[in-house]
Amino acid sequence: MTGGGTTTKTLLHTCCAPCANQCIDFLRDQGHELTAFWYNPNIHPYTEYRARRDALREYCKLVHLPLLEADEYALRPFITAVADHIETRCRTCYEIRLNRAAQAAAEGGFEAFTSSLFISPYQNHELMRQVAEAAAEAHHLRFLYQDFRPLFRAGQDRARELGLYMQKYCGCIFSEEERYRKPKQIIRSDAEL
Ligand code: SF4
Repeated sequence: MTGGGTTTKTLLHTCCAPCANQCIDFLRDQGHELTAFWYNPNIHPYTEYRARRDALREYCKLVHLPLLEADEYALRPFITAVADHIETRCRTCYEIRLNRAAQAAAEGGFEAFTSSLFISPYQNHELMRQVAEAAAEAHHLRFLYQDFRPLFRAGQDRARELGLYMQKYCGCIFSEEERYRKPKQIIRSDAEL
């Protein structure tokens, strides 16, 4: 896997340590001056949010990576933002997180930003890319695109070796339900039944 970036002061939005570790290695290998950024109001419930945040803190300390945190467990604003389109909520979720990352990068004097979300084979990669590009344009900085997906398994293995907390579902309370209940047990609105 090769990357095409040049050395820049880069903010890496991080969804969790298992996804971030390979992105960190890859970007550092390319010579990027890297800082991690935590902002994930989509993770519920609070105990899960805390477990993922604390695992990232632990990992950043281990690899001597500066970590900026927008440590807001914004359950109510998140649910309100997606309430009228729960089945297509992921776009809003990407917009909330990637816009905030771009804003933090611009305010912090970074030249570029990217996200560990781009390692996940479970996310809508192209949609995230569109959202990230729009966020970068709005904040006059560079979105450092990299398809990290070939590194996903290695990242999971590394997290397991280190005993880091590993989540079982994407993040929001709806994804938790989708992970653990059979589809026909999930009660949707009347219009969808
Ligand atoms: S499933 Fe994942 S990406 Fe989609 S809204 Fe929930 S947390 Fe966000």
